[in-house]
Amino acid sequence: MDFKEYIRVIPDFPEPGIRFKDITTLLKDGDVYREAIESIQKMVEDKEIDLIAGPEARGFVIGAPLALMMGKGFVPIRKSGKLPGNTVEADYGKEYGKDKLAIHRDSIQPGQKVLIADDLLATGGTIAATIEMIEQLGGVVVGAAFLIELGYLDGREKLKGVDVHSLVTY
Ligand code: IMP
Repeated sequence: MDFKEYIRVIPDFPEPGIRFKDITTLLKDGDVYREAIESIQKMVEDKEIDLIAGPEARGFVIGAPLALMMGKGFVPIRKSGKLPGNTVEADYGKEYGKDKLAIHRDSIQPGQKVLIADDLLATGGTIAATIEMIEQLGGVVVGAAFLIELGYLDGREKLKGVDVHSLVTY
């Protein structure tokens, strides 16, 4: 399937010069959404995985159904101040703007194998911060899976050593 047909590109959002890849047009088609998640599953099914972690908000939309399909637990990564329990945090810069991410300290046990899932890999800042937190908890990042990769932003370079899989590349 050509998933790009279902992804809408919106120019100058959220700021001038950014061509925003809008996946809501893909998500609203049940068959295409399912096929996208199944295709991501196929890319990572040979991996040994204990948990799937995804950053809010669109990382939930990819990571949670993937976790359900694979019979794994899901660990939410949120903006600082949103998680109720004890957390570790990491700063990150993204394609547009800066922020701080957090993960519950007890969400990952040392040695657990974690697959990261998100909708889109841009500069890699979000996932670099995510990896930093998972590793701080003793987790082992076994890969990162995306619906979309913006190849021209070289996010992969920031994630050296991590096995990166993406369904479509721009
Ligand atoms: P990065 O940290 O620069 O790799 O940015 C990735 C994060 O920003 C992801 O969590 C995306 O949800 C979001 N993002 C950046 N650009 C886009 C876009 O064009 N469409 C949708 N999300 C985007």
